[in-house]
Amino acid sequence: MELNKSLRNDWTKEEVQNIYNQPLLELLYQAATVHREWHNPKEVQVCTLLSVKTGGCPEDCSYCGQAARYQTDIKVQALLPTETVISHAIKAKENGSTRFCMAAAWREVRNNRDFDRIIDMVKGVNELGLEVCCTLGMLTEEQAIRLQEAGLYAYNHNLDTSEEYYDKIISTRNFDNRINTIQHVRKAGISVCSGGIIGLGETTADRVSMLLTLSTMPQHPESVPVNALARVQGTPLEELPKVPIWDMVRMIATARILMPASTVRLSAGRIEMSETEQAWCFMAGANSIFTGEEKTLLVTPNPGVNEDLQMLSNLGLEPKKKEFATSCSN
Ligand code: SF4
Repeated sequence: MELNKSLRNDWTKEEVQNIYNQPLLELLYQAATVHREWHNPKEVQVCTLLSVKTGGCPEDCSYCGQAARYQTDIKVQALLPTETVISHAIKAKENGSTRFCMAAAWREVRNNRDFDRIIDMVKGVNELGLEVCCTLGMLTEEQAIRLQEAGLYAYNHNLDTSEEYYDKIISTRNFDNRINTIQHVRKAGISVCSGGIIGLGETTADRVSMLLTLSTMPQHPESVPVNALARVQGTPLEELPKVPIWDMVRMIATARILMPASTVRLSAGRIEMSETEQAWCFMAGANSIFTGEEKTLLVTPNPGVNEDLQMLSNLGLEPKKKEFATSCSN
């Protein structure tokens, strides 16, 4: 594969398939090479994700413990007070995070007092000098503009899975709903964070399809989270097998090659990975992790910040310092 410093959004399905399916070490070598051309390979962005409203969600995402219809151990929590969220953000900053993400288990944003409070949270976190990110469900264009004006830096809205497999995983919304919100975010001038989850029972063709959708967007998402299914008891997918590490490495490496400028986030599933396995993911081009004192990623277990900082140090990596760019650094 020819390597050069230009971004492409005209990838074909065949090209993506060929990249994804090539011998693993060849794929890894190419991805590591691309990674070194576009990023400082020593740097890993450390982000904190806080659930500001937990559980009770009307959607039926079959991987999610926050869907009201599944019997899970998740404790429902109404929208947190703004001061609580700000104190979490201060702590995250002290622990080296440069990005603070706030997640609410909503189907969509409504124009009500809760949204007004989210706007206050965005302003408050922004004032701390952190990159502020939100994931709140579907957004209209007007709501995206309001968030942008409050100082929102990025909005997370994952594709979840491929367009073809979407209705096997979620029935309460469709793939086009996802794309529409991403377009509203982009139009409002907010940086896009969008990736997906593997291990949902999808095929390799679905993984290729999801990566093709992301990498052929008119502008690549600046941030591409790659998640391994965190199997939550009580959800329809609780008994699916653990995602093999080489599948994660393949996804990360392919994402790195297709979207070289993006930050590829090694997201859910780290708790089940050894340090060695995570090292393979960094080698494949992952350059961000979520961490925090709570040792949770939303509602599933995650390594803690001290463990993560030690791991980065063991691997000769370092938390990326904050840099304000015109486009999102993640
Ligand atoms: S993933 Fe989000 S939208 Fe889906 S059920 Fe969970 S909280 Fe709701």
